[in-house]
Amino acid sequence: MVNNIFEDLIVRGGLVGNNNQLKLFRKIDFSMYPARAFAITINDIYNKKGLDYLIKLGKIMGESAAVMFRDEINKMKSLIKKDYQTIKNLIEISGFGKIEEFIEDEKKITIRIKNHSVIAPSKELFSNKSSVCSFYGEIYGAFIRIFKNIKKLKITHTKCGCNNGEFCEWVYEK
Ligand SMILES: [Zn+2]
Repeated sequence: MVNNIFEDLIVRGGLVGNNNQLKLFRKIDFSMYPARAFAITINDIYNKKGLDYLIKLGKIMGESAAVMFRDEINKMKSLIKKDYQTIKNLIEISGFGKIEEFIEDEKKITIRIKNHSVIAPSKELFSNKSSVCSFYGEIYGAFIRIFKNIKKLKITHTKCGCNNGEFCEWVYEK
């Protein structure tokens, strides 16, 4: 396996260009947006609609993406396991961030992220008032719930890169 998930997908034909569109698994259309613009948009949604609404949006985005991937993987009847490495890879190719650490024990799952393409410009623009972490925390939680068949997870953002932390950390309690 190639180290970089994008290279690996391209080599295996999992990510191809077709009619000026990027397609994953030959089916799923991909759009990419400039990260800084996305950071500004998320913060604006938070300021106008509040935290609960932003959390709801993160949940919708994470669930729709995770369900789509899960269903495609199920259809492929492939050897792709629905384990944490796959969840990590899918989160990364979706552009939701490169997860540095994924630690699981009996009761909880811990995720750590550094140098996130949207969190970094958001920190630069809004410092500790940045709200993008609430959005991404929900997205990662949705992937864990869908792929691991867990009904409910309690999410805590235990460390934040926007708040003088070295990285962002979320803890998901089962
Ligand atoms: Zn954070």
